[in-house]
Amino acid sequence: MGFKKDFKDKLYAWSQTVHRPLPWKGIDDPYLIWLSEILLQQTRVDQGLPYYLKFKEHYPTVEDMANAPEDDIMKLWEGLGYYSRARNMHATAKYIALERNGIFPNTYREILDLKGVGPYTAAAIASFAFNLPHAVVDGNVYRVLARIFAIDTPSDSTEGKKQFAELAHELLDKENPGKYNQAIMDFGATQCTPKNPACSDCVMSDHCQAFAKQAVAQYPIKTKKLKRKKRYFNYLVLNIDGQVYIRKRTQKDIWQKLYEFPLIETTEEISELGDLEKSEAWQQWLHEQPVKIDRKSKPYKQTLTHQLIHACFWEFHLDAAINLTDFDFQLVDRKNLRKFAFPKIIDWYLGDKSLYLNLF
Ligand code: SF4
Repeated sequence: MGFKKDFKDKLYAWSQTVHRPLPWKGIDDPYLIWLSEILLQQTRVDQGLPYYLKFKEHYPTVEDMANAPEDDIMKLWEGLGYYSRARNMHATAKYIALERNGIFPNTYREILDLKGVGPYTAAAIASFAFNLPHAVVDGNVYRVLARIFAIDTPSDSTEGKKQFAELAHELLDKENPGKYNQAIMDFGATQCTPKNPACSDCVMSDHCQAFAKQAVAQYPIKTKKLKRKKRYFNYLVLNIDGQVYIRKRTQKDIWQKLYEFPLIETTEEISELGDLEKSEAWQQWLHEQPVKIDRKSKPYKQTLTHQLIHACFWEFHLDAAINLTDFDFQLVDRKNLRKFAFPKIIDWYLGDKSLYLNLF
């Protein structure tokens, strides 16, 4: 047992020396804890924090969020990425407000059953809101434990996940699980960071096996190399009298329920308009329509977890409106574009166009 027994005391000793104030720390409102955890999934704290404050201000209670129109939720979420999280969050708010009378579930199992809540988030909510003895195990915790105990099992293997989960549970302060979880997360985020951990000034350094072996950078060990699928998006910005066509993405794919310009996806980058014109979508939407090309934007790139999106915006002007309503497109004033939630890559393009007002 040895150092394992002292682990939490070392962690608390370190914790007392750091001050990392975050607005959701020390609260026990399960709604706000859940909100903060959902917003911080796959997101850095500094990026998620303004979203937390915005959502809390707009929707101070779960009922407020449940009653909000979905488009408003998506708009507020804009820029945070992983939009399925926003849809799951809204569905969960409705479920709690309408089917549970606004009462949050207070067992780990029931929390885990909520849409958009995985084991990490369930452990965080259970421990912070209800003081239940569940250890959080996320990238920070994998890294800290892998280094201190020099664990050679890859953290992304089935065996590794089990081993880390068992060790995390063994180390957990069962009497103060919320305090312990917060401390280890803070430790991973500020002391034992992915790059340049502060080893020379670390309470764990006397016991840290990776440090002793001078092998800190090797931990945690991972097996899989992520392969990202490349996709090429050609957006048609069809401009007519200060208006453009957009529609909501409804298919089961990335960015569901966000808005976009007419999109032609190709298997490789397209440089000639002629290649676009041959596509099936063009034939359906624009065949024999009098569209005139103005310009093609610079290429934009957005990296998602499993995909690399290349986008190009082809800007056209039309002398008269065309019938795209059959394809669910709507014509909107350019100055109103900011009211719609777009994927980040479109926002970047619009941002380059002087904040929506002065498009071309
Ligand atoms: S000594 Fe370095 S690697 Fe070990 S716990 Fe401290 S910061 Fe992390």
